[in-house]
Amino acid sequence: MNGEERTKSLRKELRKHNHSYYVLDQPTISDYEFDMKLKELQGLEAQYPELYDPTSPTLRVGGMVTKNFETVAHNQRMYSLDNSYSKEDLEDWEKRIQRGLGDVEVEFTCELKYDGASISLTYADGKLLRALTRGDGFQGDDVTTNIKTIKSVPLKLTGSYPPKFDIRGEIVLPFEGFAKMNAERIENGEEPYMNPRNTASGSLKLQDSAAVSKRPLDCLLYGIVGQNTGIESQWQMLEKAREWGFKVPTVAKLCKTTDEVMEFVGYWDVHRHDLPYETDGVVVKVNSLQQQDELGYTSKSPRWAMAYKFKAEQVSTVLNEITYQVGRTGAITPVANLEPVLLAGTTVKRASLHNADQISKLDIREGDTVFVEKGGEIIPKIIGVDFGKRPQNSEPTRYIDQCPECHTQLVRTDGDAKHYCINYYGCPVQITGRIQHFISRKAMDIEGMGGETVTLLFQEGLITDYADLYTLTKEQLIPLERMAEKSAENLVNGVKASVGIPFERVMFALGIRFVGETVAKKLAKAYKNIDAFIVATEEELMAVDEIGDRIAQSVVEFFRNEANLEIIARLKSFGLQFALSADKLENQTEKLKGQTFVVSGVFEKVSRDELKKLIEDNGGRVGSSVSSKTTYLVAGDKMGPSKRAKAEKFEVSIISEDDFLVLVG
Ligand code: AMP
Ligand code: ZN
Repeated sequence: MNGEERTKSLRKELRKHNHSYYVLDQPTISDYEFDMKLKELQGLEAQYPELYDPTSPTLRVGGMVTKNFETVAHNQRMYSLDNSYSKEDLEDWEKRIQRGLGDVEVEFTCELKYDGASISLTYADGKLLRALTRGDGFQGDDVTTNIKTIKSVPLKLTGSYPPKFDIRGEIVLPFEGFAKMNAERIENGEEPYMNPRNTASGSLKLQDSAAVSKRPLDCLLYGIVGQNTGIESQWQMLEKAREWGFKVPTVAKLCKTTDEVMEFVGYWDVHRHDLPYETDGVVVKVNSLQQQDELGYTSKSPRWAMAYKFKAEQVSTVLNEITYQVGRTGAITPVANLEPVLLAGTTVKRASLHNADQISKLDIREGDTVFVEKGGEIIPKIIGVDFGKRPQNSEPTRYIDQCPECHTQLVRTDGDAKHYCINYYGCPVQITGRIQHFISRKAMDIEGMGGETVTLLFQEGLITDYADLYTLTKEQLIPLERMAEKSAENLVNGVKASVGIPFERVMFALGIRFVGETVAKKLAKAYKNIDAFIVATEEELMAVDEIGDRIAQSVVEFFRNEANLEIIARLKSFGLQFALSADKLENQTEKLKGQTFVVSGVFEKVSRDELKKLIEDNGGRVGSSVSSKTTYLVAGDKMGPSKRAKAEKFEVSIISEDDFLVLVG
């Protein structure tokens, strides 16, 4: 097989695996094998740029940046849906339909109403041409580059599809992926996202498509619009869309009567909690497209479709007490302690109240009867107070002004919704929180030790910072409660073993605010050892790709602190890794030392990520925006005009991909 044939056959094969994995949820190959094949394809594509194919599976990783999303008119208007809330509503609707059509037989399809962000995809000759958000229904934003990174969106269709058509659906963020994203954010000391729907629609408008590709988004389709599609019914439409490679949930039913529709609604009102993504109702549609045509549209919605909204899962219960939690960064979170109540299948005892503003906005007080709702959010939320049930002696909530753990005066800075305890070194919860973060799995991964042990050791006065862990002895531990000789030994050994944990993870373990796993990796790579990192200025830090002012500020603050420097010196003396290991430094040169590059546009021979890696491996830095500090702007195809203008303003040399490759040899 020659290079061209191999490229084409790999593309075809990988498309098939993508379809099995992301559309059918039936993997047909291991992740490892998939990655190997993808790498091979990337290599071939770099070697044969003339074989460029906009539908290649390699384009799923993103890399294109959109500064402004272009507004484009929809080929056909995207309508809203009328809502119904009861069987009577549905029966009224059916009567209106019968009146409109004359007394003929009508069938209905029932589908779930997926709760995400609407999307309209245009396909021409079997290839994804364009993706538009709903916008105002007449025109939407072109988010094609971002949509291409969603693996369940086929870039190329299979079977016999019409030459040109639009297909509509919903971009959703499944619960599992949402929970994972939030766990990461919390670990990084950031506020978690509120709910999957907003996060999904926010994702479509991210400028960096590579960031979108990392979000576990899914695209569920339900409607085809276009001339001469050969489709006669809604049911057939779903089947055809599946045949052509789209992800169309199999939960759907063809019904003849309102009773059958209600049966579907009743079943899914309960079982929707078992689905991997959020739904907020059922959409009932007249099945025959010819009948749909006859019925037509009102000024805002089709007459042939009706949404049946599930009741928001809501209960009321008594708010017993508001307590306050202190996080490892000192952030205070008010928590509502509720009279336990059953909601959407689980017992709810607590709900987050977020911050002081939220409490005063809703005028929430202890003793109130409150409404608790569980929508897409994993954590239930309080949406209001039943003022009719407010006790006579009720008093407005006075937000705490002292830390509940250490009684330090709380601080709230402008623009921050949260109050903070700034007693960084004295507040017990912050101290143990930092040590717990240090030992956690993604950080130093210290075996034989858990969060409770940390609290115990702290209370016994054996540790006051994470460096103290390395001085613990078996003899100190054995007398402690619930500490057998064996577990004491495991703990000491676990601590000892952690000195081999690589530099980038040590950086993460330090617990610098806003320095999460990915940022820690980036910084470790850019600075290579802790000494260079400690002395970095805010400006230098911000020149590193993806490092913003918030992170830079936090890093500088961390190292400005003598106590932190002392802890690091002690950790060093215990042998922890404070420089990149030799094998990571291998293949690395200093050719680009002291030079900062900004990369823009699309490249032919190497991907953007590879380009950035080459820069970093050769001692250079990747910057995110052109400034007077930039040495070179590496320009690919379709480079943004503002980057060029800035480069000219700051007299930064613009070089091509080839120029760059010569530079690194
Ligand atoms: P609304 O925004 O409440 O007017 O509801 C209309 C929206 O529901 C549409 O824009 C679709 O994006 C969304 N939707 C979700 N699932 C479906 C479905 N199965 N059929 C039609 N529309 C759906
Ligand atoms: Zn405190």
